[in-house]
Amino acid sequence: MYKAKAYSAANATSPLASNTIPRREPTEQDVQIEILFCGICHSDLHTVRDEWHSVMPTVYPCVPGHEIVGKVTKVGSGVTRFKPGDLAGVGCLVDSDHTCPSCRDGLEQFCPEMTLTYNSPDKHLGGVTYGGYSDSIVVDEHFVLHVPANLNLAGVAPLLCAGITTYSPLRHWGVTTGKKVGVVGLGGLGHMGVKFARAFGAHVVVFTTSPGKKADALRLGAHEVVISSNAEEMQKHAGSFDFILDTVSADHDINAYINLLTRDGNLTLVGAPEKPLAVSAFGLLFGRRSLSGSPIGGIAETQEMLDFCGKHGITADVEIIPIQKVNEAYERLVKADVKYRFSIDMASLKSE
Ligand code: NAP
Ligand code: ZN
Repeated sequence: MYKAKAYSAANATSPLASNTIPRREPTEQDVQIEILFCGICHSDLHTVRDEWHSVMPTVYPCVPGHEIVGKVTKVGSGVTRFKPGDLAGVGCLVDSDHTCPSCRDGLEQFCPEMTLTYNSPDKHLGGVTYGGYSDSIVVDEHFVLHVPANLNLAGVAPLLCAGITTYSPLRHWGVTTGKKVGVVGLGGLGHMGVKFARAFGAHVVVFTTSPGKKADALRLGAHEVVISSNAEEMQKHAGSFDFILDTVSADHDINAYINLLTRDGNLTLVGAPEKPLAVSAFGLLFGRRSLSGSPIGGIAETQEMLDFCGKHGITADVEIIPIQKVNEAYERLVKADVKYRFSIDMASLKSE
């Protein structure tokens, strides 16, 4: 065991602050990574503030961060796919049982024994796992991703959660040329959803509550932008979408979007608001529409997504911040004031 530097929250209302945490020495199949950048996901904020208490209560101290990119510093004797000096990525998963039907299908995100990167029971050290707001992390090789060498690392980090969480449902629901796709909410997930849907050939419409994001939405790849408070603009799209990806982090009216789906259209929730959303039965049954959810993605698909990004030059649009600005960044996240992902330059942790 060794001590790593980290930023952690002591309870649901305290700001994140500098701390040290235990990390295990790499075992046979482990990879140790020096973290260079870590994205700030809205899930970090939900967890730090214990907003998901009824589903996944937060254990403190909490070190969030599951959009990790860095350099391999050490590998265990059984590691074959990485060597010191390699670039490496880690997303939301660091372990699973490797044997259940989901793991066998390469869908570790559905393993009943999956270990999340933070706030999951730590099989090695006891307590809970600690995430990427830290200078290093030790992860089973199976959960470590190869990072394309041609991409900007600060912009790669968010691909490990915002990237895969949007890529996976767009692929699952067959988004391709000729499909009309809506993306609700232009934040970290939403802006990646726009980039992927556009890259897959769809006609992309962004729904935003922020009129100031209109020009950016078009630049990011949207064909059209709708200000969701404008009922007339919304009505123009009634019954026309094959697929809508809802990335909103707070309470909102999803019936307004269900009504925009075509026959057999699907709305998938990836946003995870604190409180349950109300659904009108009529919106679903007229039109045989469906409502789904989708959590992150499996390891094989995460690698596929990273390779796709390498090939197509896709990264997140990031605002790079030092770790000392993390609490300010959280306040801005709540106000939907992020363009379009905060990426923490972990070198800033050295001065703590
Ligand atoms: P984010 O960057 O904060 O973006 C959320 C966006 O939602 C905002 O930029 C805003 O877009 C919109 N929004 C915020 N409050 C709203 C409100 N009251 N009404 C309507 N729209 C509102 O967050 P994120 O990191 O993309 O995460 C989004 C959600 O996905 C979070 O709940 C997060 O926990 C969840 N998540 C889920 C998974 C998964 O596996 N399913 C993975 C990662 C994250 P506009 O300004 O354009 O309206
Ligand atoms: Zn996330």
